[in-house]
Amino acid sequence: MNYELVCGLETHVELATKTKIFCSCTTEFGAEPNTHCCPVCIGLPGTLPKLNKAVVEYAVTAGLATHCEINPDAKMDRKNYVYPDLPKAYQISEYDQPLCRNGYVELASGKKIRLTRIHIEEDAGKLVHERGNTLIDYNRGGVPLIEIVSEPDIRSIGEAAEYVEQLQAIMRYIGVSDCKMQEGSLRCDVNVSVRPQGSDRLGTRTEIKNMNSFSHMTKAIQYEMDRQIDLLESGEDVVQETRRYNEETGCTEGMRGKEDANDYRYFRDPDLVAIRVTDDMVAALKAKMPEGPQKRLARFQTEYGLPEADARLLIDRRRIADYFEAAAKGTKNPRTVANCILGPIFSRLDSDAAKDEFRVSVSPENLNALVGLLDAGKIRKNLVKSTLEKMLDTGKPAAAFLSEKDLAGVNPDDLRKICEQAAADNPNAVKDYRGGKEKALKAVLGAVMKMTRGRANPQEAEKILTQIMKA
Ligand code: ADP
Ligand code: MG
Ligand code: ZN
Repeated sequence: MNYELVCGLETHVELATKTKIFCSCTTEFGAEPNTHCCPVCIGLPGTLPKLNKAVVEYAVTAGLATHCEINPDAKMDRKNYVYPDLPKAYQISEYDQPLCRNGYVELASGKKIRLTRIHIEEDAGKLVHERGNTLIDYNRGGVPLIEIVSEPDIRSIGEAAEYVEQLQAIMRYIGVSDCKMQEGSLRCDVNVSVRPQGSDRLGTRTEIKNMNSFSHMTKAIQYEMDRQIDLLESGEDVVQETRRYNEETGCTEGMRGKEDANDYRYFRDPDLVAIRVTDDMVAALKAKMPEGPQKRLARFQTEYGLPEADARLLIDRRRIADYFEAAAKGTKNPRTVANCILGPIFSRLDSDAAKDEFRVSVSPENLNALVGLLDAGKIRKNLVKSTLEKMLDTGKPAAAFLSEKDLAGVNPDDLRKICEQAAADNPNAVKDYRGGKEKALKAVLGAVMKMTRGRANPQEAEKILTQIMKA
């Protein structure tokens, strides 16, 4: 029998607010363990949480960017469970009144992956396993998260990866998170079930917790699919449970039976007031929202005439898209600018992390100036690339590498003489041209460019050659 994958994702995104969700500790990543903590975020008795307004604004912005309805009357609830990373023994989250509902993320194919909800909650601390001991770092405790829950609309591993990539791009664009999987600011719980192709009933699912890289996520889904198909084929049932992906073996392993909402004894947090999101607040956040990646993708194709594949590579990261637009400002050759980025610049950024950082020694203004020389006919395309390489090596502007001679081009009298010489050197091409073979002019033009080592303005040279060769 043929089986199909059914998959829904719960994606945790750490918000890039300066301070934590209920206290004024910093959210900065990478400090010494337990140095970004206070009585509130380590849950000492007698302390009271106070909601950070920026968290609500970021979450609403995320909801607007994913076409959600915004709930005007949200509230926070306690989700009770005992685990060492959670000193209060409850996590403050949102249960039945999340901030955002009923959105979607659109894939390149046009298919929409529906979002059930987006809610805000606090992150827990981090367990560090070291030489047989387990240590706890509470720096992450109280860092604000949004949890984005999708409907089980995903049907292939490719769709799962693309969905996460899209979320990542959207959240980065609107500036609510840096979404670095390797630092844990984006983590996915992946719910997987399989069913006979064509069936419209959902199979029993398992949930694989805390995927923190694309490659682990795709391998885990593949493994889990195969495991479930094997079970069904041999007449056994899939047990609904929570599993973990073992990076060493590439397998998923059972962790615990699946808890349900009842197990958490959710109740409204009595320490926090209701969250009222007014229409004015929503309108103000909407007005502040930058253009999303989808819109920008379309605009890069129409406004700059870029091929879709190139536009996609540029818009993927907002920093790169912004760089491109600054460098392409006012130029007649936006495709050359794109090629400069996708060629020489990208070849120096050899990892995803390097592309995220996008540290480039050439400022967009300097690249703009370089392409400006091409626009003005002062240099030819081949000189753009080689000059850019030197600019990248040194961080200096184009003028440092182009000699007076390069920039002056060839003066008109000299150019005429050179064209006459080139025509005299290529009598056959001239004869062909006079016989009606227009292409023959290109051969002579090539000779002119060679004689001037690329410094001649090809349009000018072509004009002169047309006069000479017609005669
Ligand atoms: P919980 O909060 O207990 O994990 P939910 O009902 O909220 O459970 O579902 C969580 C996720 O599981 C959602 O992303 C949803 O799309 C997905 N999901 C639900 N049923 C299935 C299923 N049969 N197969 C795959 N994914 C599923
Ligand atoms: Mg879940
Ligand atoms: Zn604190």
